[in-house]
Amino acid sequence: MPTATLFNYTFSLTQPNPDAHVPPTIRKVVIVGGGSAGWMAAMMLADALLPKGIEIQVLESPVVGIIGVGEGSTPWLRGFFDKLGIEEAEWMPACNATYKCGITFDRWSTRPGFESYFHPFASMLDNLTMTQFVHNVNARVAGADVYAHPNRFFIASALSEQNLAPKPNRNFPFDVWYGYHFDAVLLGQFLQKKAIARGVKYTSCHVKQVQLDERGDIATVVTDAGETIGADFFVDCTGFAGLLIQQTLKTPFVSFSNNLFNDSAVAMPTPLGEDIPSQTVSTAMKHGWSWKIPLTERFGNGYVYSSAFCSADEAERELREHLGLLDSPTPARHLKMKIGRVTKHWNRNCLAVGLSQGFIEPLEATALLFIQHTLSNFVEFLEAGDLGEAAQERYNQRVNDHFEGTRDYIVTHFKTNNRTDTEYWRANASNGNLSEPLQELFRMWLSGRSIVPDVTRQTLGRGYPVFSWYCILAGMGIFPEPERLRAPTKKEARYKMSEIDNLLHRSALNFRKQKELLADIPRKTAEEALQIYLW
Ligand SMILES: Cc1cc2nc3c(=O)[nH]c(=O)nc-3n(C[C@H](O)[C@H](O)[C@H](O)COP(=O)(O)OP(=O)(O)OC[C@H]3O[C@@H](n4cnc5c(N)ncnc54)[C@H](O)[C@@H]3O)c2cc1C
Repeated sequence: MPTATLFNYTFSLTQPNPDAHVPPTIRKVVIVGGGSAGWMAAMMLADALLPKGIEIQVLESPVVGIIGVGEGSTPWLRGFFDKLGIEEAEWMPACNATYKCGITFDRWSTRPGFESYFHPFASMLDNLTMTQFVHNVNARVAGADVYAHPNRFFIASALSEQNLAPKPNRNFPFDVWYGYHFDAVLLGQFLQKKAIARGVKYTSCHVKQVQLDERGDIATVVTDAGETIGADFFVDCTGFAGLLIQQTLKTPFVSFSNNLFNDSAVAMPTPLGEDIPSQTVSTAMKHGWSWKIPLTERFGNGYVYSSAFCSADEAERELREHLGLLDSPTPARHLKMKIGRVTKHWNRNCLAVGLSQGFIEPLEATALLFIQHTLSNFVEFLEAGDLGEAAQERYNQRVNDHFEGTRDYIVTHFKTNNRTDTEYWRANASNGNLSEPLQELFRMWLSGRSIVPDVTRQTLGRGYPVFSWYCILAGMGIFPEPERLRAPTKKEARYKMSEIDNLLHRSALNFRKQKELLADIPRKTAEEALQIYLW
């Protein structure tokens, strides 16, 4: 039976292991790149390696900027900070961060009653309503006219509807899972300062050459100031450039462009309103979708689209129209995205982390989770003392499974749309380039059989847990047409929605407005945060 459990063995964060023996061949690690990936890598590796006397150095180019977007997280970011012993009260104000209950998907489906749905972060409390949700969804798939839209079954969705933060009063007996929204630039600066304080070395320099030894491993990098820097192990965090993993080691790249069409984005901020929402909103646009992310000082907005279907100018115009900024001087940032993954995230003495290892478009804000997952698994292998080829293969399989499972979940958003307004949406709905596990999952769902075995046994479950698959398929309204529904049997109609509404309503009384809760955390303006963290 599916439960509210979000945990998946592939996601488990490793615990510090003071007795672990890192192979003596590794005495120095060089991380090239100082974006979110570079500094998250520095922090996680510092935690595991500095106590063992291993040196860590970050090299960051003063001429290549960071991508500077990436403002939404999954609940796993909480584990990242917890494990490093960094309190919310410290990092959240520094990064203008807010709490996130999940994501609303607006206008992705035109099926009556299913024009919008919420993908919640599941919680312990949802164990009280998960059985009812799955029961009703299964009954509706089987043709019974019972209520099966996900929004009325989850506490996170009840909270986000009222702009409540997912942090209950002290006496509330259930933990509630949540993610965050944050300013990506401030996050990088915060982590940089922390990493340096913990003993990571930092050099501002542009790497212009990567030199291999006679075996083909990376031996040194050469900076444009002519300095040669060597290490036993290198971490490529150079973003889409993939300077070490792709350009130097020639690790093959598997493109996902045949089932994820979006390759571009345009972003611009808007002012906050009266309240601070506790959700990301993803709205279907003509040739892609737009995000709206609340921070403490502004909304981050953007339009992710496919350049095969519209130009950058058209996309910017449509986004401005959507945001009411048609005549505004607010500048827009245009970005290109490379969607797919390398075949080997760990290749020879190099680990690729972040955009250099691959990227699945940001619809479910999973990129920082990939960074965490890539690193925590690597530390696990490192501490097991096994750096051989077989270990590398097992490791790469694990990371690839995570990529494939997540890719399939994102593809499902596009494949199950029934919009007919543009060629973009029609092409997505008719796209037959689906992985075998995903095709099987759709067959099972449409034939009324359980999707649980498919999700748990296949790579699909390495990306998302069962309840998320139920949410997306039910939320998009993948049920028999309304005219084909019949009256439910007594067994099918055994759960009363009024009881669930009541439970969630009473539970929500234990939570406060996001704005009010954040006011309790001493807040800094963007300028103050910059001054403090730009040492
Ligand atoms: C439109 C969009 C929206 C996104 N939204 C989300 C989201 O909501 N949630 C999420 O988790 N992720 C999101 N992401 C992804 C997220 O932004 C990235 O995964 C994250 O910021 C990590 O980026 P990075 O550090 O790998 O690369 P970058 O930020 O590009 O950093 C690259 C670093 O490498 C350095 N560098 C490059 N070349 C050299 C060189 N030759 N020598 C030395 N240094 C060099 C640069 O100076 C820079 O410091 C989004 C991405 C895009 C494109």
